[in-house]
Parts: sequence; C-alpha cells; structure tokens
Amino acid sequence: MKHCSNTECAHLIRFNRIAEYRDEAVTCSDCAGSLSDGEAPEPISVGFRELVTIYESRDQIRGHLLRSLLEQREIPAVVIGDALGAAVGELPVLTVRVQVPPEFVREASRLALAFDAGELED
Ligand SMILES: [Zn+2]
Repeated sequence: MKHCSNTECAHLIRFNRIAEYRDEAVTCSDCAGSLSDGEAPEPISVGFRELVTIYESRDQIRGHLLRSLLEQREIPAVVIGDALGAAVGELPVLTVRVQVPPEFVREASRLALAFDAGELED
C-alpha cells in the first residue's frame, strides 16, 4: 500500500481522506505528487482544518438534510451540534451548524439560502 503525502492533494481536499494506492502506483492520480510507502495516516491535522459555518438552525434534522444535499453536489460538509444557553434550571437550546471548507463557502451558502427558501428539496 502507498499513499499520497501531499497535504494540498485534490483528493484530500475534496474527500477529507488521503488517497491510497497499490504498490505498483508511482504518482497520485489526483495531484500527480509522488507517493509514500504504507497506509494513509488519519488526516487529523490536514483537510477540514478551517471550516466555515454556512448554516445554523435549531432543527437538527434540517442541518443533516442540508449536509446530505451539499454532499450530493460534491461539497464536503459537516454538521456540528451545540447545546447553548444551558444555564442552571434552563433547558439547553440545541442548535446545529453546517460547516464547509473555505473554497466551498460561496456555493454552499447559495445552496443553503435556496434550501431555506424551500427550493432545494429533492
Ligand atoms: Zn495526491
């Protein structure tokens, strides 16, 4: 097993996963970078490092629905849940945030607006 060690690899940015190749492979098919031996390490410090919030809702289901709509359009997205305002004696208000890598912010924001307007249900 080999893997692409380029931290700017198109495959890594797009899928948040380091591309892996068979031993016969010489260069990465996504970025043409040279390959390192061994299995790909978990991309903890690369990819998805600077996510931008493009959508916030108190409806967790809508957050997850938007994420899957973005992923259908090949935009990587994550849903982060927060419990806000949980002072003593109060019920926590759960909100979710949908975040995408910076290069997808413009398109994802446009889709999120269309989603909120009910134009994206499919
Ligand atoms: Zn690569």
